[in-house]
Amino acid sequence: MQDSATSWVGRRVLVMGLGRFGGGVGVARYLADRGAAVTVTDLADANDLRDSVAALGDRSIELRLTEHRVEDFTSADIIVVNPAVDPRPGKNEYVEAARQAGVPFTTEMRLLVESLPADVKTIAVTGSTGKSTVVTMIGHILEHARSSEAGRVWVGGNLGGSLLQSLNDVTAGDVVVLELSSFMLDWLGDAAWSPNVAAVTNVTPNHLNRYNAFADYVASKQTVFDLQSGDDARAVLTGNAAALLTPRIQHIELINDTDGLPDIPQLPVPGRHNLINAHLAIAACRDLCDADQAAAALSTFTGLPHRTQLVCEYNGVLFYNDSKATTPDATYPALSGFAPGIVHLILGGSDKGVDLNPLVGFAALHCRAIYTVGQTGESIAQVADAGDAEVVRCDTVDAAVEHAVRRVRRGDVVLLSPACASHDQFPHYAARGDAFTAAVLRCTGEGAPLPG
Ligand code: ADP
Repeated sequence: MQDSATSWVGRRVLVMGLGRFGGGVGVARYLADRGAAVTVTDLADANDLRDSVAALGDRSIELRLTEHRVEDFTSADIIVVNPAVDPRPGKNEYVEAARQAGVPFTTEMRLLVESLPADVKTIAVTGSTGKSTVVTMIGHILEHARSSEAGRVWVGGNLGGSLLQSLNDVTAGDVVVLELSSFMLDWLGDAAWSPNVAAVTNVTPNHLNRYNAFADYVASKQTVFDLQSGDDARAVLTGNAAALLTPRIQHIELINDTDGLPDIPQLPVPGRHNLINAHLAIAACRDLCDADQAAAALSTFTGLPHRTQLVCEYNGVLFYNDSKATTPDATYPALSGFAPGIVHLILGGSDKGVDLNPLVGFAALHCRAIYTVGQTGESIAQVADAGDAEVVRCDTVDAAVEHAVRRVRRGDVVLLSPACASHDQFPHYAARGDAFTAAVLRCTGEGAPLPG
């Protein structure tokens, strides 16, 4: 544990990967403020990282951008790695060099969980899809379904930002809700931390460009349960996750994701997947608030941007931004939530090594038209050509929206749910969703923007 205010003074810390989502910035600031001699190294340049560099403020943090230097790694007292760095032997020459020099590693998330005060409850959420939604639902429930005297709720992790900044304000009785990606879990395996609740939404093939095999990805997700110990710990998981993962503790709650899930009247977010997400969130909060009050609280949950988000209605056509759907398993529920023959689907992006063909086959039967974009666009188009839907090769999201707007009829739906990552054309999924939204508003003469 490195949580005391003085234990970092004078320690040489190397932060590997500043990134753009707040984790690198958060940990660099946190450690510099505690007296560590911090060096940040990132292969990107100062222009790409300008917002993150600016957020470091005037702290004396050394920046080593556009390169990594072996001597920075071998001379550090400790290295804080970005979770995107692959920890497996032989995968990263700098990590290897540091390992051989006996330098220990940690991550922003690991520092956080190992530094949280005792008597703070932690809820850890992972899964292939639905993590951010479930984490945000849990935060919403705990904010709205408990008495005003209940402790504060902190929501963070893979969602973005860094809760390290708030560590001084987290006190006994608070609840910390953390979204954990498989990359984060890969660096948490031997952390001194047991989440009070571990919740898993589902486990389906993802990130196969990082993991050698699906089994390795499953093993990564299993980590969240392997961390748990003690009589009070609880596991919450869907049937899909339970087929692959094994909780290690006594209290296990299974969410039936195949049939028979009770409806939650007035749940404002669409689709069966969101009903499953809501039941997971309610179950995760079971020790902290009444289930009926939790369900009632969700009636004011408006969802997250870029997740089947309604952008506007134009001449009876609905435009949805589901840019966060970066795998086929995320696109299926969004697409199948709409009637056959009305959807104009924008599909494609960078290749994550996942088989897209079954989804494309389904989409080619279910959609009115498919607009292919990005790196995977041509291979999607070739498979889709065999189906009923019109296939329009577009390359960019802008062009796809322009083509779709010319083809739509009243009652149709235009859906960006690309089933691929965005990195071939955008810095991240949110930039892709923003580009879609901007193109839709431009092509529809500002449409009729909807609240939220
Ligand atoms: P994550 O944080 O795991 O990436 P999000 O909550 O951001 O998940 O949702 C990402 C996408 O996955 C959304 O576009 C949504 O359509 C889809 N999705 C959300 N929850 C589920 C679920 N339980 N099952 C399948 N797909 C889901």
